[in-house]
Amino acid sequence: MKLNILVLSMIALIQAPTLTQELTVFERWHKTDQLIRDRKIDEDDAKDSIAIYVKLGKKEFKNLGISGTKREDWVFPMDGWTSCTYRSNGNDYKDERFDYFQGGEFKGHPAHDIFFPDCNNDAIEDSTGKKVYATAMVTGIVISTYNKWWKGDYFRSGNYVKMFDPVSEAMFYYSHLDTVFVQPGELVKAGDPIGYVGRTGRKAINGRTHVHIAYYKIDEGHPIPEDIIFDLYLAQKKTGN
Ligand SMILES: [Zn+2]
Repeated sequence: MKLNILVLSMIALIQAPTLTQELTVFERWHKTDQLIRDRKIDEDDAKDSIAIYVKLGKKEFKNLGISGTKREDWVFPMDGWTSCTYRSNGNDYKDERFDYFQGGEFKGHPAHDIFFPDCNNDAIEDSTGKKVYATAMVTGIVISTYNKWWKGDYFRSGNYVKMFDPVSEAMFYYSHLDTVFVQPGELVKAGDPIGYVGRTGRKAINGRTHVHIAYYKIDEGHPIPEDIIFDLYLAQKKTGN
């Protein structure tokens, strides 16, 4: 027993990052994104940083020798559901008042909300008795996550994941997740589970279980939302459901 503890603490010592160790591109991006979320960074500074992260992130991805995902091959952002519906029949996308640098309390709804059967709102699919996965729409790298949401938390987004798509130089944003499986810097393949769909978030906790999926194309460091409803319909069609 004592030997085990000794071995474990030796491993911990070896693995502990030293103060001089440099942060990776995605660890930096995660920190910058947290500052944007909390409105603690100048907008121009943030844009300059993101423009660099995109460049370096693409390079890092290329070094992995893995191919990215073409738009026509995007994967539906949920797995393990028997049927699904879109908020307002897919007309819930509104980006007129939105700006990424508004942070966590952004205006508008530059996204789509997708529901699965969950009458009692326990984040469990009524037909399968199981939770539903949020899945990566593309092969990419995790930029930022939040997984500590609790009922007293003011965060509107709840638990979330932001993923970098090196092919289209964009980010995918999933919010209100029940659980988050991934970490910043992690390589995720298209279709991989990144969390469970839920209803975390200040307002979402009183609503229906759903995934909020957004797509922001990055233009010179500025994430600009784009409506992906037809991509979602196409990806859904490919699931056969
Ligand atoms: Zn939403």
